[in-house]
Amino acid sequence: RFITFEGGEGAGKSTQVRRLAEALRARGIDVLTTREPGGSEGAEQIRRLLVEGSADRWDGLTETLLHYAARRDHLRRVIRPALAAGTWVISDRFNDSTRAYQGYGHGLPQGDLAALYQLVSEGLSPDLTIVLDLPVEVGLQRAGLRGGDENRYEGMASAFHQRLRTGFLTIAAAEPERCRVISADQPLDAVHGEIVAVIEQSFKE
Ligand code: C5P
Repeated sequence: RFITFEGGEGAGKSTQVRRLAEALRARGIDVLTTREPGGSEGAEQIRRLLVEGSADRWDGLTETLLHYAARRDHLRRVIRPALAAGTWVISDRFNDSTRAYQGYGHGLPQGDLAALYQLVSEGLSPDLTIVLDLPVEVGLQRAGLRGGDENRYEGMASAFHQRLRTGFLTIAAAEPERCRVISADQPLDAVHGEIVAVIEQSFKE
């Protein structure tokens, strides 16, 4: 099984990934958690190129190609081998983040992103994607981003984050088989409970 978590800043993705992995391991399931951008040695090096430096360091297409180069390495070296060994893979962000950030956020054509994904993924896609949804202001506040620039993305204006939110929701609505939207605007335990319920429902044999 290949499960991805998506959503904007401050949605609590990394916490929920960790908690889901713990819950699955408690049931005897072999789980690998990973993240994007990054997740393999090479992709983590590319991540540093992406998140460090000024906001205009890369033009939109260059940035996008770096994301896809990282994703290909991540898929080849980490995700595919784990899935082949029967391990469940849970990734904190995956291709929908590129569609939301570089597509809905920065305006790259969705058709180009789809073609790049097809090229690097060779047809592999997540079995389930959990979209953690949150009002933009709540997310930015949680992430401590009222003006503070933690990295070159997080200082972006809230209009950008609003486009991201709309983007994730649009993607989820277009692929209801793969995607489930869960409100992240509730206590961590409640979010975790909804995620476990979705997993049980999706993967009941
Ligand atoms: O999720 P995480 O905080 O690790 O992501 C690192 C940064 O990269 C975030 O600030 C996120 O906004 C940004 N990002 C991006 N485009 C992507 C994926 C992540 O701008 N496709």
